[in-house]
Amino acid sequence: MRAIVFDAPGRPLRALEREIPEPEQGQLLLRVHACGICRTDLHLLDGELEVAQAPRVLGHQIVASVEAAGPAREARAEQAEVRIPADATSRPAPGSLIGVPWLGYTCGECAWCLSGRENLCPRARFTGRDIDGGMAEFALADERFCFPIPAGYPDTQAAPLLCAGLIGYRALRMCGDAASIGMYGFGAAAHILIQVCRWQQRRVCAFTRPGDRAAQQFALELGAEWAGASDEEPPEPLEAAIIFAPDGSLVPVALRAVAPGGTVVCGGIHMSEIPAFPYSDLWQERVIRSVANLTRRDAAEFLEIAPRVPVRTSVRTYPLEAAGEALEDLRAGRFTGAAVLVP
Ligand SMILES: [Zn+2]
Ligand SMILES: [Zn+2]
Repeated sequence: MRAIVFDAPGRPLRALEREIPEPEQGQLLLRVHACGICRTDLHLLDGELEVAQAPRVLGHQIVASVEAAGPAREARAEQAEVRIPADATSRPAPGSLIGVPWLGYTCGECAWCLSGRENLCPRARFTGRDIDGGMAEFALADERFCFPIPAGYPDTQAAPLLCAGLIGYRALRMCGDAASIGMYGFGAAAHILIQVCRWQQRRVCAFTRPGDRAAQQFALELGAEWAGASDEEPPEPLEAAIIFAPDGSLVPVALRAVAPGGTVVCGGIHMSEIPAFPYSDLWQERVIRSVANLTRRDAAEFLEIAPRVPVRTSVRTYPLEAAGEALEDLRAGRFTGAAVLVP
């Protein structure tokens, strides 16, 4: 099979031929139909997040059909306690279309796993970082971490739901019932989330890089009440803000844009350093928090909501071999919406 691998930070991704892997106990062999790229892939490429074992196939927004299954896993008693949605515990049938997200394995035994916070499991393994991901013609996945793709989504349009959508949805949950939300960085996640927000009757202000008129226009088309540059103030103080851009200097900016009691959610896995700011900006019970990874509950909930909104994704497709080019286009902001590789 054809695969694209990461070797080391600063080195270009490399195409190679590999044997199709064999599924082991509890694993599925998947034929990849589409794989979304994500800013996390850039953090891996740049060495801001570590890949422990290289070469590694990146890619953690996989839409695939089930080609074969390994032997069944023995039932384990604690599965009931980690609150796995019922439909995620049955084995997907051969040929069925499933999605594989960033969360690829959790231990099921630690305090975090047993309290519904498996996203924080210290033994968690992540697709496309600790486990070979979707930048290939075939991939293996733990069947407990695969989800049915909602009906009505073309493969390429479903891919961005699996990270931009899922982790964005978790970030939105951290905003509580805020009626007005600012989104800093209007890319793949924000263009999905704004649709969920509008469906939930929340108002959205979109902040982009200064001068990025295309992204601002895109946000307005998707229902933003206001769109402007990240150094501008919103028309009125916001009840919450989500920062998707990996720029720590936006944290104090967003903090000044939220009203007393408001929350600023940092939605990315990595950010540049956050500059110092006066305590008065945090005063009045403003909150800054991060969002880490996802739980299977997030996935089940969001994939149930997405077709009801209905969330429509705007995607640019690239052939598998153009993975490096797609990632550089993401870095430079050369497209609106999301980018998806097709093997
Ligand atoms: Zn991602
Ligand atoms: Zn655990």
